[in-house]
Amino acid sequence: MSGSPAPLIKGWCPGALRPMLSGDGLVVRVRPHGGCLSRVQLGGLGELAQAYGNGLVDFSARANLQLRGIKPEGHAAVLEGLNALDLLDTDSETESARNIMVTPFWQADDGTTALVQALENSLQHAIVHDGLRLPGKFGFAIDCAGPPVLRQASADIRIERTEAGSLLIYPDGAQTGRLVEPHNAVEQAMVLANWFVRSGGVCNGRGRMASHVRHMPLPPEYNTPVPFAPPFTPEPGMTSAGWMAGVAFGQCHASTLCALSTIASLRLTPWRMIVLEGVMQAPDLTELLQAGDARLRVAACTGAPACPQALAPVRALASDLAAHVPAHAFLHVSGCAKGCAHPQAATLTLVAQSGGFALIHHGTTTDQPIARNLSPERLRAHPELMTKD
Ligand code: SF4
Repeated sequence: MSGSPAPLIKGWCPGALRPMLSGDGLVVRVRPHGGCLSRVQLGGLGELAQAYGNGLVDFSARANLQLRGIKPEGHAAVLEGLNALDLLDTDSETESARNIMVTPFWQADDGTTALVQALENSLQHAIVHDGLRLPGKFGFAIDCAGPPVLRQASADIRIERTEAGSLLIYPDGAQTGRLVEPHNAVEQAMVLANWFVRSGGVCNGRGRMASHVRHMPLPPEYNTPVPFAPPFTPEPGMTSAGWMAGVAFGQCHASTLCALSTIASLRLTPWRMIVLEGVMQAPDLTELLQAGDARLRVAACTGAPACPQALAPVRALASDLAAHVPAHAFLHVSGCAKGCAHPQAATLTLVAQSGGFALIHHGTTTDQPIARNLSPERLRAHPELMTKD
């Protein structure tokens, strides 16, 4: 896209042991085991964010949690705190590979937690003993609590439950998969991960399954069609696992984590929403969004000044425009063409360029704009500009 410098693609995600430097300090990403945080862990994370960071916490699109603005001199103390909370991996290779997204709607008797535990163990063994090296963005989705809900979320190997109750494993992007038994599902996930590496899926440390299977035939046993599933639309409210609430732009203050720690354990989701385990009604916390909140129809990345690549601040503009987004439409406001907050197409996309915002209808940040050089002031004064063809 003209009018803006090409964004820098790093090809890896931050971790706790390998944090990423951003405009507001270190981003320390915590990968909770099984996508869950106990009340003790929530309270501990809130305290770490307040003591060593800028007090802001992100819920990421990979269902992880990030402490922001950590000062480099406080990093060692954060690691010590995470270790005490059982949230630290033994080494950065294991941490980086432990990208396991879990449906937040799992039930105690559906086998999900056993699968997650077994996959964590197998991954660590394969990394430490077999030298398996997966690309930094490579991940797994364990989505077998019922009809799949994670298909729109980033993952490379998916395990789902079919209508008949069997488990199906398949590479992201493939039309066919392999039926497996619960006792060998993880073993087959590791076989598939090794197949990806051996068949040339990794190039210069990068690679994703969906691009790989476009030109590489699957092993013959992957011959069961992946059933159609309608896109899952998350909504705040009561779920089978507890109360689900939104978090504007996936970010809250550490004080909200501390308050949540007095209420319930949390299950993280890739939708910038959280599930309060076992809770039956909306918690009275101002940073949690309930159904109908206009900010649920908007995504905006970190933007300026906290992201060094951003060409403009975006969240205040997104908040101001939220009420003007038509029902059933979705607005994505991005600080640069990388589109971190919403890589998919959106009804309306505003992307910051050097001369102002470009407006794209029904596309991503890199599609052809229908207007350019829109200033935030003009957009605020004339929000109807967003929907005019
Ligand atoms: S999309 Fe936003 S957060 Fe991502 S690099 Fe660009 S400005 Fe930064």
